[in-house]
Amino acid sequence: MKRIAVLTSGGDSSGMNAAIRAVVRTAVYHGAEVFGIERGYSGLIAGQIRPMGARSVSGIINRGGTILRTARCAEFLQPEGRAKAAAQLKEHGIEGLVVIGGDGSYRGAMLLHKEHGVRCIGVPGTIDNDIGGTDFTIGYDTALNVAMDAIDRIRDTADSHDRLFFIEVMGRRSGYLAMMSGIAGGAEEILIPESPTDLGKLIESLRSGRGAGKASSIVIVAEGDEFGNAYEIAKRVGEQSEFTDSRCVVIGHLQRGGSPTAFDRVLASRLGLLAVEALLDGETGKMAALVSSTPVLRPLSEAWETRNQFDPSLLRVAHILAV
Ligand code: ADP
Repeated sequence: MKRIAVLTSGGDSSGMNAAIRAVVRTAVYHGAEVFGIERGYSGLIAGQIRPMGARSVSGIINRGGTILRTARCAEFLQPEGRAKAAAQLKEHGIEGLVVIGGDGSYRGAMLLHKEHGVRCIGVPGTIDNDIGGTDFTIGYDTALNVAMDAIDRIRDTADSHDRLFFIEVMGRRSGYLAMMSGIAGGAEEILIPESPTDLGKLIESLRSGRGAGKASSIVIVAEGDEFGNAYEIAKRVGEQSEFTDSRCVVIGHLQRGGSPTAFDRVLASRLGLLAVEALLDGETGKMAALVSSTPVLRPLSEAWETRNQFDPSLLRVAHILAV
């Protein structure tokens, strides 16, 4: 295989640029031609495909977002859209594709492979760290550190005013990022979709914290918590208890961008390199994953079939240490 392409798809995450750089430079190293596809599957269907070289990825390892842009593409969900995408690849003589994104993007890649024989390798890029088959996804560590930093800052104000804060952390259906940022930030309570939120218990716990001499309280609310968002929970707590004067902060998109941490840059570099070498070896339908600190290939389908199972021992750590 002499001609490959790379795209980023779905939500952006910090470190995607480092992964693009790794893909391009590994291809150059092995004497393959490499193309960048803009705006994910939308750009592929529209033929937004350009050649890339080692210098076209200079100075991006430290930049958040993705220089190739990203998109969500409804047309690609239909067989006709995927046929157009495959035709574009054929027209450009591209035999293999590196897809940097989440499990939705992998489902698309798998169909492109099955229906049109396009070789595809995935690289996990999402802040949620909710992809099965890999211990970490690119962008999670950066988002975690941003959330932790926000919690630290809010703690200063919460302490100064003896105040209760609700902080909403991103993560769509997954509470993993909220859980880890709560543990790292020393939160009093962490509400996640993986465990049922009980308002009575929450209020009791806040009271006992105050009784034990805590000046401030921080409750982390995962974006996908089944009970509601941070504002709704704060309102209900205020209606049912003496905690009527709380404040809410939604960290939101601040968590997605910014310069990637060293961990994310190294992860992106190792997985991007593995993805290209796998493609050049004739592999397809696989994901470059990190398992027990080692880059390995896993079936793409693991990404959605074994979505990261939540480890309940984390809840215990958070609970015991918030005493
Ligand atoms: P992520 O890759 O971050 O999980 P999405 O779930 O939004 O993000 O998926 C990104 C894109 O991948 C979608 O806009 C769509 O073009 C494609 N995609 C997602 N799911 C499928 C699917 N089941 N079949 C084909 N393409 C899909």
